Amino acid sequence: MTQLEMIDTYRHKGLRKQLVEGIRQKGIRDESVLAALEKIPRHYFMDSSFLEFAYQDKPFPIGSGQTISQPFTVAFQTELLQMKKGMKVLEIGTGSGYQASVLAEMGARVYSIERQRKLYQKTKEFMTRLGYPVKLFLGDGYLGLPSFAPFDRIIITAAAPEIPQPLVDQLKPGGILVVPHGKDDIQHMLRIIKNADGTTKEESHGAFRFVPLLGDLGND
Ligand code: SAH
Repeated sequence: MTQLEMIDTYRHKGLRKQLVEGIRQKGIRDESVLAALEKIPRHYFMDSSFLEFAYQDKPFPIGSGQTISQPFTVAFQTELLQMKKGMKVLEIGTGSGYQASVLAEMGARVYSIERQRKLYQKTKEFMTRLGYPVKLFLGDGYLGLPSFAPFDRIIITAAAPEIPQPLVDQLKPGGILVVPHGKDDIQHMLRIIKNADGTTKEESHGAFRFVPLLGDLGND
């Protein structure tokens, strides 16, 4: 993706408008989410041979055995976050940097952790060129970023077999964690809301399919 010329043509913009219209029809209502998806050239985040696929509502390979999430899924998770401008948001699973860019476009102060060194380096270089002021970290997202906590919002973009307690601990009171939860092929999208007294409330928002979070034995 870093080799790509960053050119956003009228054709790309037109395809993006159609994509966003489709996502609206699938039930996304948050206009700030839809506006961010319409603004960001998703084709920049993909390898050039896949350029024509950038504006289909599908996930796509980004190397290192990972995928850029389906646009609808990005929109769905982002809507569940109920973001406001200026919020401090932690993402687990930087991948291509697309989700992080959507959050930045919506005015969040974004911190994002990637477990795989190759992807981290590729995306760090790319994000510098793209210009969103997203802070990227190489590490194990299970542990979060204790030295930058607490966060208003946390989003996990890989399947979590269990809810990482360190991440719940790093949420502000009133904060929200969105996580695809489950061990099997299919996960349930959970929204976990931290109450003022530190207890949590959990809601389930349907079934999704994500690549699993890598543990300590993840291939670097
Ligand atoms: N949000 C990404 C897509 C995520 S795919 C995007 O917008 O493109 C899941 C990502 O999580 C992969 O890049 C994978 O390497 C990363 N990942 C897996 N386990 C992780 C862990 N324990 N900590 C941080 N990142 C992890």
